[in-house]
Amino acid sequence: MRRVVMWSIALYLAATIGVPLAVVKFWHLIPYWHRHDSIQVAVYMHETGALDRMDLEEYVRGVVAAEMPAGFHQESLKAQAIAARTYVAGRLKRQGGKGCDRHPDADICTDPAHCQGWLSDDELVDKWGYLNYFTYKRKIAEAVDATKGIILTYDGAVIDPVYHANSGGVTENSEDVWSVRIPYLRSVRGDFELGTPHYRNSYSFGVLELESMLGVDLVDRSESVEVIDGHEIKVVVQGNLSADSVEILDRSENGHVRLVRFGEAVLTGPEVRQRLGLSSARFTVEVLSDQLIITTIGYGHGVGLSQYGANAMASLGNDYRAILLHYYTGVQFARLI
Ligand SMILES: [Zn+2]
Repeated sequence: MRRVVMWSIALYLAATIGVPLAVVKFWHLIPYWHRHDSIQVAVYMHETGALDRMDLEEYVRGVVAAEMPAGFHQESLKAQAIAARTYVAGRLKRQGGKGCDRHPDADICTDPAHCQGWLSDDELVDKWGYLNYFTYKRKIAEAVDATKGIILTYDGAVIDPVYHANSGGVTENSEDVWSVRIPYLRSVRGDFELGTPHYRNSYSFGVLELESMLGVDLVDRSESVEVIDGHEIKVVVQGNLSADSVEILDRSENGHVRLVRFGEAVLTGPEVRQRLGLSSARFTVEVLSDQLIITTIGYGHGVGLSQYGANAMASLGNDYRAILLHYYTGVQFARLI
């Protein structure tokens, strides 16, 4: 009797834990009869260096999972799915795209700093935990399936659907960030993101830290040698920051810093953002005697779709079409064939 109970428990555990784990682990080995007529994407895995071919919609699911929090509203996940699909559609070699210029055999790579992020099922189990994995995976699959094949075009051409985390209430014109005017990447306002994460961040930097991170000189220093108790000691006297140590020289009408002077050096806003690890290049500065306070608005480059804005718009009842038409000016919906 005891043996029957033990076997029943073992069987139960195998069924509830072992089978789903096996499905996750070996999913990619299961033949996809339904994929034969699907669009294949050659994806370069930047972590392993492997080149994988996968179904376009499967690729889009991995991008949405990597690039947007899975807890976001379903309509914002759909908007993200269309942005992700449009992004790869513009690079697909079979559609006349140039592919990933760092990896000649690939349509796209999984390096978020180059093409767009993508996570495998194993990585998603690590990211979300085993319990959330099935819930989130299904939620994202539903968002991707509901928009299957849909992409965005402008004047008949596939758009470059850039996106960022949080616009801080107003997005940027493309030329204010990258010097290139793109007709569908216009500044749009929408006070959706107030109170969301990264809407406003504050940083403080000491003088030495600021000088070494930016590679600039900001204060005068005098060195002298004093003899104390018979020992020669080098004494460095460091001046304080003054009101004119840092000056913002030029910013876009929406607040994106174009040029800023630190001491004698002039840097661009994006350079300062990158070197100081700021959330965005839309910032203000406040000089205190021994430190600089920088306050940023938004997170990311600020051009195109705002992910937190999309989530907030969706929560207010907007569907994915309204979200995308808000952030990408004058675009049309098309079907990838
Ligand atoms: Zn790439």
